[in-house]
Amino acid sequence: MKIPGDDDTLRQALEDVNLPNLLLVLATITGDDSWLGEEFAPAPIVAPEGSLFPDDSGGYSTSQRARILEAAVKIIGEVRAGHQDLGATPNLERFHRMLQFSTGEVIDQEMAAMLLEETRFVDRDEQWLPALEKLNRERSGEALHVVIIGAGMSGLGTAAKLKRAGIGFTILEKNAAVGGTWYENRYPDCGVDTPNHFYSYSFHRNAKWSSYFSKRDELYTYFEQCADEFGVREHIRFNCTVTEMCFDPARLCWDVTFEDQTGGTQHLQASAVVSAVGQLNRPSRPDIEGLDDFQGAMWHSARWQDEDLSGKRVGVIGTGCSCVQLLPKTAAQAAHTVVFQRTPHWVAPARDYYKPVEPGLLWALQYIPYYAEFHRARMILVFGDRSWPAVVADPDWQDQSVSVNEANHAMRSVLIEFIKEGLGAKQSYVEHCIPKFPVWGKRLIVDNGWYETLAREDVTLVPQGIDRVTATGIVSADGEHHDLDVLILATGFESNRLLSPMRVLGLGGQELSEVWGDAANAYKGTTVPGFPNLFCLYGPNTNIVHGGSIIYQIECQIHYVMQCLTVLAAGEGRALDVRSEVNSAYNESVQSLSAGLAWGHPSVDSWYKNKAGQVVNNSPFSLQKFWAVTHDFDESDYRLLSHGANE
Ligand code: NAP
Repeated sequence: MKIPGDDDTLRQALEDVNLPNLLLVLATITGDDSWLGEEFAPAPIVAPEGSLFPDDSGGYSTSQRARILEAAVKIIGEVRAGHQDLGATPNLERFHRMLQFSTGEVIDQEMAAMLLEETRFVDRDEQWLPALEKLNRERSGEALHVVIIGAGMSGLGTAAKLKRAGIGFTILEKNAAVGGTWYENRYPDCGVDTPNHFYSYSFHRNAKWSSYFSKRDELYTYFEQCADEFGVREHIRFNCTVTEMCFDPARLCWDVTFEDQTGGTQHLQASAVVSAVGQLNRPSRPDIEGLDDFQGAMWHSARWQDEDLSGKRVGVIGTGCSCVQLLPKTAAQAAHTVVFQRTPHWVAPARDYYKPVEPGLLWALQYIPYYAEFHRARMILVFGDRSWPAVVADPDWQDQSVSVNEANHAMRSVLIEFIKEGLGAKQSYVEHCIPKFPVWGKRLIVDNGWYETLAREDVTLVPQGIDRVTATGIVSADGEHHDLDVLILATGFESNRLLSPMRVLGLGGQELSEVWGDAANAYKGTTVPGFPNLFCLYGPNTNIVHGGSIIYQIECQIHYVMQCLTVLAAGEGRALDVRSEVNSAYNESVQSLSAGLAWGHPSVDSWYKNKAGQVVNNSPFSLQKFWAVTHDFDESDYRLLSHGANE
């Protein structure tokens, strides 16, 4: 990496960097651990009220700060001049020590091991890549061919790894472009609630995110670039919708049927199928009487129509993440907005949600050696498992009705104050805005002006529920008719029936949708007994609620799948079928853990649960634990099917 500019450029950039992180950079380049000594120990991280970003600047005195910055200018300047090499990347023991030093907190060694891979100081691909490369060389001509369904973040991530391993693959994508959810969702202010320096592939960092929480267009552009930079675009067949796949036990492969852009039916044969269809790709149309009678314009948040709302009376059904994100923008345009709420959600204060990435940090992420690595680790520590203790139920907690432990209850109190403050003059709304389930029962919504918007004079909250829709508006449960020109359905997605409407036929012709019903389950969220060589990314019980990036979860799964592929590549005509008893034991544990978490609380009714109240979508694990669960493939968990050796 060439470092541009001179000492003044460097000095200017360093104004915006995190000093505890910078000390890790200096220690790594010089190999000198005196930079991690008592003298430079940072002050504890504190969370200023209302801010998303904790104050983790280190609390150094002016003279300490000057000393660190001058040393950094000198050391990095030497690197720029070619007089100093980059030093050795830290091993686990040193990295662990570094993280504990820079945060002033006790960090689990397993967490450090995970972050070592997330920073790519350790290349996790080394766990499977050499084996696959060797097998590819030995078995040229009779290689595996994988079909990936979907070119969103799971599909593109998998494709990148298959490409790296030299395994043949085809991606079938129903849309005309890549990006999945970030292609489809275009509602106003659509964006992430996890900082992008974490919400991006660990193996394809982007040093140029303009904001910490980027908006849809920038995310979509990132995935478009990934398709090109991974060199996988030529493998994608756009406008192709998979309708059916059927496992052939004689040939030990999948026959995949899909509809192409002409409406014609086509077939592909695959040694393995990776389902990368996501959990939230089928908009849910609410079952409300009269919905079809509405004569005004009506659309779902995930099928946004760029209509000018000026002067219009707009109704919005639903108060989940999508509604909270879009409402401030649409309400500012519309003449009047009516929000139809069934259940209030918890919304977290986030006054710096729109914070741009500081110019100096942008520079540091691109040019200061190791800075981006340590920054990613820090973002994961701050925005990942930090909230985990607050979601785990404490059996001794006295009031189990609305909170699950003391920290959870404390958060509830903070958020109730935030509601009161945000609603300003509309204090009559307060009782309707306080959820009756524990905080983190559903993913905490990052605020972008929700309560201030509800407090606007031209916005009305209807908490009574909907009786019916008419040609000209909505009748709420109290009998009032609300006249509307436009109706926005922010009513979420059909999430429990994973992989549907595809027809998936496994061993013995069993159909996956029947095997699962509305209680989808898979081993490590990925493999299903009786459906050999089918790998579900972002499958059952993999969604995260407490905090963190879904790309992280997906990468953990991809890593696991690549290890499975080493077994398939080791012999011709092989299939892996997860043992039914292994899957059952795993999922019993998933359900028992889920029951003890905020989102398993009986008061929570959400898209994560099926009709019986079982958690189908969410992971019961912290990020650290999910990494550990998916890290190592154990062949004894599977039946290895091979030609002639099985029925
Ligand atoms: P959602 O969380 O499922 O919210 C749907 C809303 O519609 C809920 O308020 C629900 O009420 C309401 N609703 C559904 N059917 C209804 C009916 N028949 N009558 C009245 N109200 C009805 O959907 P979403 O807001 O699209 O978010 C889905 C997920 O997408 C989120 O949980 C999150 O994982 C992801 N997301 C993330 C972001 C982000 O910040 N990055 C942004 C948007 C979405 P109930 O609560 O009573 O069911």
